[in-house]
Amino acid sequence: MSDHNTVLRDLGWEEGLTLAGCNQCQLVSLLPQGAVAQRCYHCGSKRVETIDPTTDLSSHLAPPELVVRQRLRGVQAATRLKEWGKWFFLQPNDAAHAALVSRLRLVYTPVWLMDTTVHTKWQAEVGFDYQVQSHRESYAGGSWRTQKVQRTKQDWEPRIGSMTLRFDNVPAEALERDISFTRLVQQPIIGLQTVEEAEPYRSESVSEATFCLPTRVPQDAVADMVPMLMEMAKNEVKSACRADHLRHFQWAPELGEQNWTKMLFPIWSTWYLDDDDRPRMIYINGLTGHGWGEKIPSMRRAWLFSGIFGGAAALLFVAGAILWIITQSVTPFFTLSAFGVLLLLVPLILILFVIYQKGRPDQFRMF
Ligand SMILES: [Zn+2]
Repeated sequence: MSDHNTVLRDLGWEEGLTLAGCNQCQLVSLLPQGAVAQRCYHCGSKRVETIDPTTDLSSHLAPPELVVRQRLRGVQAATRLKEWGKWFFLQPNDAAHAALVSRLRLVYTPVWLMDTTVHTKWQAEVGFDYQVQSHRESYAGGSWRTQKVQRTKQDWEPRIGSMTLRFDNVPAEALERDISFTRLVQQPIIGLQTVEEAEPYRSESVSEATFCLPTRVPQDAVADMVPMLMEMAKNEVKSACRADHLRHFQWAPELGEQNWTKMLFPIWSTWYLDDDDRPRMIYINGLTGHGWGEKIPSMRRAWLFSGIFGGAAALLFVAGAILWIITQSVTPFFTLSAFGVLLLLVPLILILFVIYQKGRPDQFRMF
């Protein structure tokens, strides 16, 4: 273990971290002491094992250059979890607020930032707005009136040119797209504004946190970035032409002078076990506080309530029958039976609700 610590410390990481991998979701991370024995912060699996840092991971193992520190402290993350649990019908016992808070972990997840110079020839049609005035005649109050009407029209012109653009700190995914962290938490919010909040990583500045390592090399992220760079290039052309609109943009970009930076982004993570002992994850964005969680109601609790309501319905039937015999009138029996039938609908609705919730394809819901 001392070798383990020495390798990580020599790379520039803080003391006391352990390199470990999850055998289920395949994420590799640096975990604080004791966390190897815990469930995976991303998928909830118990199959987390220590990895020898002298093996083949050296390219991914370097510390980040930049870190975006969390704005959301642990107490605030706990408050967000309370909000998540508010309308959770038939909540499994394991999803109690205190349990979720006790498992709450701060995870720093990686994002690549690319600097590059794009050289390209381009062609497009640029549109300019202009106003057209016309008149509309209308008959009202026994006389004709003329009204001026303004309309906006577009004039389109073809343009062609070449340009060299410099892009700095363009974010790209460092984790595979099917990883829930990327799809849910990172993708919607990572932008240039986030990058401005980043500060240089110092091993002592971020402690007691978990560090998720990239699963893809920067070169793999280049293809994903071209559409984003194209949008930026289109805006550049539009503003250079002082145009109001742009269409049919074509280009052949060459990305030169590339430089990549690894940035870490904070996510809070916790989990609970559903009825089938399957871990269900909840993530909270460490900057905005937006959360994504799986709400899987408990069938056990649904059956428990069904039993209570079913018992109450049976009692109403029996009471109705007794009253029928005593009063020699069938009316009280029908009245109480009607209430019993209504009560029987409740367990039916509860069970259908659980079956429906479990069968939904994507269980993550934003909160
Ligand atoms: Zn995992």
